[in-house]
Amino acid sequence: MTSNSFHLAVMPGEGIGLEVMEAAATVLGAVEKRFELSFHQEHIPGGAHHYKETGAILPKDGLERAGKSDAILFGAMGWPDIRFPDGTEIAPQLDMRMAFELYAGVRPIRAIPGVPPVLAHERWKDIDLVIVRESTEGMFASRGKGEIIDDKEARDTQVITRKVTEQLTDFCCKLARNRRETRGTPGRVTLVDKANVFRSFAFMRKVFYETAAKHPDIDARHHYIDAMALDLVRRPWDFDVLPTENLFGDILSDLGAGLIGGMGFAPSADIGAAHGMFQPSHGTAPDIAGKGVANPTAMILSVAMMLDWLGERHGSSAARDAARAIELSVDHAFGTMNLRTYDIGGRHGTRHIGNTIAELIRNGQ
Ligand code: ATP
Ligand code: MG
Repeated sequence: MTSNSFHLAVMPGEGIGLEVMEAAATVLGAVEKRFELSFHQEHIPGGAHHYKETGAILPKDGLERAGKSDAILFGAMGWPDIRFPDGTEIAPQLDMRMAFELYAGVRPIRAIPGVPPVLAHERWKDIDLVIVRESTEGMFASRGKGEIIDDKEARDTQVITRKVTEQLTDFCCKLARNRRETRGTPGRVTLVDKANVFRSFAFMRKVFYETAAKHPDIDARHHYIDAMALDLVRRPWDFDVLPTENLFGDILSDLGAGLIGGMGFAPSADIGAAHGMFQPSHGTAPDIAGKGVANPTAMILSVAMMLDWLGERHGSSAARDAARAIELSVDHAFGTMNLRTYDIGGRHGTRHIGNTIAELIRNGQ
């Protein structure tokens, strides 16, 4: 059934989450008008400050309300000085990945025209890959369960399941196919692991190849995490879709963001069978929060990912067109209008970026 009307759970959070969400809302307003979409936005508070004030990270029915929406738009939550009594960080986004089984953490790493190259190589502009971080198990399955024995020894345990590895592999093969059709990329999926040392990774690789065999049009390969850290710096333009374990994906996606100008340019989507959550790869950035200087591009590109996903699920070509328009406007703003955010040495603040991109969309970019 086609629908152009969507119910969004909007969770700005705190720190720069609030600021980048405001810029994203401006852009959302612009695509809503131009593409005749309709968004019903339900705001849900939450985060470390919410915990300090109320004793809970989210409102009591917050998760349930978010789960009933068509998509969740998330800013950033967490604050260094506000922690749980046991010292662990307040990170509702991790709980939401578990609660909604958002196994695929999709982090596109694409060079944006005009953003000063990080690598002194002419192929820098060809960087267009996607890290898919498995987000419900791996090393993070041990979160809150690790133990410290007599102050002498500490243990955390990694979990890899057949079910999630199959889901992840299917997801990545479909993504690679879709990218090949729409962007001319090679249709290659490279599992990043450490199968030479750990049985859990050997198992993951075995299940990966078994599942990938059902997608004979996809070129399935593997690469060791240490070699990948090297090659992502040396020849990132050679990679397409990179599924990997949770902790490896956490680390590699920051490396990837570094390649394209920083966290402010790295969007992400957390996808499960029934839900999708869209958020920038960065956190609340307390050091720059409240100053109006955060780069909202990652958040704005996450909105584009959300529209693409909604368009696909609900058969809305208007939503997909809106996603394209956002990407084109971002490219145009940085590539030809010399838009420069603070994180790349410029003087354009959060609101200015949001307003400029919204204006480009309104003008038919
Ligand atoms: P998390 O625990 O959620 O991963 P983190 O502690 O790794 O968070 P981030 O908030 O992701 O920290 O950001 C690290 C630093 O990068 C920030 O302190 C900030 O200086 C910079 N940064 C992050 N996001 C942006 C942005 N959108 N614009 C400008 N600078 C940013
Ligand atoms: Mg981080």
